[in-house]
Amino acid sequence: MIIVMAHNASESDIAEVVRRLETAGFKTHLSRGVERTIIGAIGDKSRLAEIPLEALPGVEEVIPILQPYKMASRAFRAGRTVVQVGEDVAIGGEQVHVMAGPCAVESREQLLEAAARVKEAGATILRGGAFKPRTSPYAFQGLGTKGLELLAEAREKYGLKIVTEVMDIRSLPVVAEYADIVQIGARNMQNFDLLKEVGKIDKPVLLKRGPASTIEEWLMAAEYILSSGNMKVILCERGIRTFEPYTRNTLDLSSVPIVKHLSHLPVIVDPSHGIGRWQFIPAMCRAAIAAGADGLLVEVHPNPAEALCDGAQSLTPSLFAQTMAELEKVARAVGRKL
Ligand code: PEP
Ligand code: MN
Repeated sequence: MIIVMAHNASESDIAEVVRRLETAGFKTHLSRGVERTIIGAIGDKSRLAEIPLEALPGVEEVIPILQPYKMASRAFRAGRTVVQVGEDVAIGGEQVHVMAGPCAVESREQLLEAAARVKEAGATILRGGAFKPRTSPYAFQGLGTKGLELLAEAREKYGLKIVTEVMDIRSLPVVAEYADIVQIGARNMQNFDLLKEVGKIDKPVLLKRGPASTIEEWLMAAEYILSSGNMKVILCERGIRTFEPYTRNTLDLSSVPIVKHLSHLPVIVDPSHGIGRWQFIPAMCRAAIAAGADGLLVEVHPNPAEALCDGAQSLTPSLFAQTMAELEKVARAVGRKL
């Protein structure tokens, strides 16, 4: 439920409501809007009888949250969540951030070349998988910790943030040590134990939509992270499986405005996995920004024909640079910056 405080509620009124809720076992979350403060409260509804909430000074209204996701719900926060990545990158603000780089970290040369080129083209975050979820156990599985070290080297050299995937709880400590944003891959969207663990770290989490997940299931997955204590969640649409075989997945761009309607969390789009074919990725990058996405995740490889993973959906650095120039115009047209 949310407790909307009156515009003239004092700090002590707010503190008293929080104290009463917490005494009754509720978890609270304060969000201060320009006009009003709202208090989000999660807990056992039957204990509400212990607190005469509506009678407490400064309380204007008590509103139940009807959706099964509570902390992810739009009602829970007065404004939109802006996820701060380090000091200089904010996801969900005016600037649209582009995360780009190879599907997998393959070698020092490959990664540093990719980093140099995506940085030059205007990306602010470098992507690259060190632990790779591959359909085949015989396919390249990633460089593991060595890949993380290479990402850190590229971050130092080019001043980029890094986003990389964590596949399970055992490797979470090392991934969280290196990554600026910890990615939960589509296949792990409902790995609830992993979600609870990333909910305990103090790093932004990029939560991909599962390939066969509804929007509600996706928001429930976010709820696991939020309710475990980590409010820095960035949602990522990456396509869902449909009956259309021409593309790798069907990129559900309608989820962008829908998620923004249902939730306060920022949402970005990954057209690379959504489509799986490089030719169509620039157009869907443009469409994603036009639809209101807060960022993009794009696979870029110095030499897609030689890529160990996802070459068919990787942009060359020069096509990426050309795409970024077009995206700048789209962002401006919809009141954003790139
Ligand atoms: C990835 O981004 O490298 C990846 C494996 O994506 P997804 O989890 O969306 O398939
Ligand atoms: Mn990939």
